[in-house]
Amino acid sequence: MKWQGRRGSSNVEDRRGRGGGMGGGRLVGGGITGIVVIVIVTLLSGGNIGDIMGNLLSTGSGTNTNAPYEQTAQEKELSEFVSVVLADTEDVWSEIFREQGMTYQDPTLVLYSGSVNSACGTASSAVGPFYCPGDAKLYIDLSFYDELQQQFQAPGDFAMAYVIAHEVGHHVQTLLGASEQLNSLRQRLSETEFNKYQVRFELQADYYAGVWAHHVQGQNLLEEGDLDEALTAASAVGDDTIQKRARGYVVPDSFTHGTSEQRKRWFYKGYESGTIAGGDTFKASDL
Ligand SMILES: [Zn+2]
Repeated sequence: MKWQGRRGSSNVEDRRGRGGGMGGGRLVGGGITGIVVIVIVTLLSGGNIGDIMGNLLSTGSGTNTNAPYEQTAQEKELSEFVSVVLADTEDVWSEIFREQGMTYQDPTLVLYSGSVNSACGTASSAVGPFYCPGDAKLYIDLSFYDELQQQFQAPGDFAMAYVIAHEVGHHVQTLLGASEQLNSLRQRLSETEFNKYQVRFELQADYYAGVWAHHVQGQNLLEEGDLDEALTAASAVGDDTIQKRARGYVVPDSFTHGTSEQRKRWFYKGYESGTIAGGDTFKASDL
């Protein structure tokens, strides 16, 4: 993506180097315990934590130092890139909302390292990037970029851009009321039933990420390979792919984000259409 020298967003909050919790170690690992903790915290907060990976939450960790964060050259470049992507999403979504007679409210992007406090609870970077509707903020530990490349094998700047655009998609859903609708279902459905709606919800965020990419393409800002980078990333964070790698088998009832094929397809649908209109994943019969 062509991003150097372009406008960065003023809505970036840099909390790197400041731990989110009350001291203590960082929680590592995953599996059942992490999932249980996530479910509890998510229920308590009505939040959407543990997004891309749906992995695990820390109950508080990090150090409480106030020293300014010393970033490496790579981190500096990445944080500038992330800021330009966020600014791009502001421009695109403001325009789309305006066309619909609505007003877009910019979300804030919080950069953190290790762990962070949000209105959705305290999260460790092991949960991956997430959006919290309670404070309308996106939370990203930039080390996720390395994880995308190495663990998910989804390299490239536009893979990271897709991740940000997906989280911004959740913000759009909050503004349009979809988040609230999903939360009301949470109260009255079994977990298995609720998961099905959760998948539709996540695929809609992928669709909105695609809508954004459509407009980036329209401005001639995509470079060769960018679209493939996003599609590879969307595929890499599919539930089936993640589960297969983590435990060797797949439990479709536990899917919360959709399969690799679905995530790719809905991103691409948004990319082709460029409008909100085609993204009603809740009504779609061909999910
Ligand atoms: Zn999501």
